[in-house]
Amino acid sequence: MFAAGFLRFLLILVLAYAILSIVKGIAASWTRRPAPPPRSAPPDALVKDEVCGVYLPRRDAIRDVIDGRERFFCSDDCRRKARAKTPPAQ
Ligand SMILES: [Zn+2]
Repeated sequence: MFAAGFLRFLLILVLAYAILSIVKGIAASWTRRPAPPPRSAPPDALVKDEVCGVYLPRRDAIRDVIDGRERFFCSDDCRRKARAKTPPAQ
């Protein structure tokens, strides 16, 4: 019965190889997927505070839309100054 045992061993080996290649294929399809392109500027991009003229990373800036334009500020104080300069459209 040596042959039967060897055949079973071979079958298990082939099955294991097949499962391994399927798992590898799935893993490869996950890692190969390209990252989606950023919709907006990266969080590290520098933006300018138009009130005091300072540059700061986008993720640290206070974002506001004034007069239909996206603007960035270093502090809420600057944001308020910009809002005071540009009254909201009626
Ligand atoms: Zn500022």
